Amino acid sequence: MIDHPYRPPPERPQRYFDTMPVADPLLDPITGFLNRKAGLRAAAILVAESNTSHIPLGTIWVDIDRFRQVNESFGHRGGDRVIALIAERIRAVVRLQCEYSRTGSDEFVLLVPAIDHAEAEQLARRLLVEIERPLRIDTILIRPSASIGVAINQIGENPIALLERADRAMVEAKRQGGNRLVMSGDEPLTGRLGVQLAREELAIESALHAALESGGLRLDFQPILGLDGRVEAVEALMRCYANGQQVDPARFIPVAEKTGLIVRLGEWSLLQGTRCAARLCRQGTPTKLAINVSRAQLLSPRFIQALHGALICADVPPALIELELTESLIMDLSETVQANLRTAREVGVGLAIDDFGTGYSCLSNLKDLPATKLKLDRAFVGVLPDDRRSFAIVKGMTRLGQELGMIVVAEGVETDTQLAALAEAGVDASQGFLHARPMTEDALLAWMKQREQK
Ligand code: C2E
Ligand code: CA
Ligand code: CA
Repeated sequence: MIDHPYRPPPERPQRYFDTMPVADPLLDPITGFLNRKAGLRAAAILVAESNTSHIPLGTIWVDIDRFRQVNESFGHRGGDRVIALIAERIRAVVRLQCEYSRTGSDEFVLLVPAIDHAEAEQLARRLLVEIERPLRIDTILIRPSASIGVAINQIGENPIALLERADRAMVEAKRQGGNRLVMSGDEPLTGRLGVQLAREELAIESALHAALESGGLRLDFQPILGLDGRVEAVEALMRCYANGQQVDPARFIPVAEKTGLIVRLGEWSLLQGTRCAARLCRQGTPTKLAINVSRAQLLSPRFIQALHGALICADVPPALIELELTESLIMDLSETVQANLRTAREVGVGLAIDDFGTGYSCLSNLKDLPATKLKLDRAFVGVLPDDRRSFAIVKGMTRLGQELGMIVVAEGVETDTQLAALAEAGVDASQGFLHARPMTEDALLAWMKQREQK
């Protein structure tokens, strides 16, 4: 696509980008892209060209996801740095003939002449991949993502209508959860906006209801191993089956969060997880069981009641239960959340901070959390051992966690060399496909028994 010959029409007017000096007030100082006003002018010129030449013009609207969080965590200077780095990535992907503009604090519009639907889609996909690469701000690694809307000029269309179509497609991408691309025309039709997606979500929602009521939910278990090879804990991961097919957690967890069903699902996890911990105890393999808890559960005053209920029903020592909390919770430690976490700790349950390191966490909040474990996100592990800077960060975060009295676990370890690097960085334990994939309770028991015999 990058090699696509760009044939400017013969009477093509000079473009803004060609003629503007670097210090031009119409350039955005952070990215060097056209600012909003100049971007609109460029769109008007290029759309007019396209309408005359009948050479299609692609409009790619890029909006960074969760940018407000970046600004809140790193301040405006940090936010500007993220924008500048993402702009560099965009420039690296898109060919030179494109007009780049920054139309809002975290919004970019790219106008790409002589590009068709398939090429624009391919280009936007490459942008998604490029933007998603982990990005380092100070010592923190963040995982940015974008929502992208793409529209191709329809001959005779006016520039505002074209931009609006790209914007609408971007909004639809955001509505679908971000980190995705929507081609204008593929999104649900105006007037029926959201119907298709809502239908899919409804299907998942009803599958979740059915699963809750008729036994379609299951827990799989994945061990976490200490560096010495002992089983440090086992994480319970929820599975949902609909019509005999497993629904991907990446699809059903967001729907459950959005609809509030996650509270009931989480309670189910808590009940089943604690019961499994009790069974493992009875089978002679007492193991700490880690259960994922979502933000919505912790925001509910009912949470402690549910926790007590689960512990009593299962008759399991609280020290064998650990709650995994996503890092985003740290961003917003409301009174209820803090009180719930404190009570959980008082009861004797362990608290793990999940996916740590990429979620824009505010380090100063870390000290206010009574957590016992820090789980480093697998984004760091995947690039080991070659990425020495990530190695340094893993080492630093490990030290930080340990200094705060936490056990540090690295997630997503898949190779021996990654494990060796993690050992060198000083982590206490690791979890990943290298040791074992998530498995059923029976398989877990067999796996543990087999290890005992070794
Ligand atoms: P998570 O808590 O970060 O769980 C670990 C995920 O990483 C699991 O995905 C696991 O299968 C995957 N994983 C483990 N080792 C490796 C590895 O070496 N390489 C790679 N590439 N992946 C690995 P899974 O099971 O699809 O779960 C996805 C997410 O769904 C979980 O991420 C968690 O956030 C959420 N989830 C699962 N069960 C529950 C639950 O009961 N309650 C809540 N609230 N969320 C849950
Ligand atoms: Ca987890
Ligand atoms: Ca995790």
